[in-house]
Amino acid sequence: MLKIDDLHVRVAGKEILKGLSLEVAAGEVHAIMGPNGAGKSTLGNVLAGREGYEVTAGTIEYRGRDLLALEPEERAAEGVFLAFQYPVEIPGVNNTYFLRAALNAQRRHRGEPELDSMQFLKKVREKLAVLHLKDELLHRAVNEGFSGGEKKRNEIFQLALLEPRLAILDETDSGLDIDALRMVADGVNAMRDPGRAFLVVTHYQRLLEYIVPDVVHVLADGRIVESGDKSLALKLEEHGYAWIAGRHAPAP
Ligand code: ADP
Ligand code: MG
Ligand code: MG
Repeated sequence: MLKIDDLHVRVAGKEILKGLSLEVAAGEVHAIMGPNGAGKSTLGNVLAGREGYEVTAGTIEYRGRDLLALEPEERAAEGVFLAFQYPVEIPGVNNTYFLRAALNAQRRHRGEPELDSMQFLKKVREKLAVLHLKDELLHRAVNEGFSGGEKKRNEIFQLALLEPRLAILDETDSGLDIDALRMVADGVNAMRDPGRAFLVVTHYQRLLEYIVPDVVHVLADGRIVESGDKSLALKLEEHGYAWIAGRHAPAP
């Protein structure tokens, strides 16, 4: 699904990713943990193709193609989805309208027929049922005045609707109460599929009690410095990131 090799990325003239390598197979859930400022969000942003991230070396292969050669919209159409750490509010734009436009843009790109409002509503109901969500967020403006939990609910709903192949969730547990955390985890777990992979970026071990990852990576100082199974997350929780730092020399 995803093969990142020796990725170097500069942001605002400063090297942030310093030779990051990572492989994710279809069907797997990988957790990325690491201290603040390590480059976790930078990785997600580079994968999604956001502006301002300059790849100076390395390669990213996505389903056998050069991901870096694709425009952000093409990446989305090819199934790359980034749930933002701070979701944008779009005042005055109805959420249902927004979601339908996003889905239809994806379908156009894939050469699939667009959904009319009846077909779209059918799909919406289907996904709401799978996620055990109510439709109350659909009639409001995109993220406007949403609580932290509501924004996450909306993100998980977007995820379910767009059915990405590679879903990147960034710090979905920051500031979330336990119910919201569970909702995110239930959503992700309901979406786990042999054809889909997840990159779950998180500071805390807590989320990983609900979303049990296949692999846990530690990103420190712009590189993956350690990978292991879910027990690695528990070790980090116990010993802190200083423990990892002590085991690895800083980048030259
Ligand atoms: P993490 O998500 O692991 O906390 P980030 O990827 O957000 O780390 O940030 C890594 C480093 O890159 C930080 O030092 C941050 O200040 C810097 N950085 C990220 N984005 C920008 C930006 N748009 N402009 C300037 N510096 C940035
Ligand atoms: Mg951060
Ligand atoms: Mg971050």
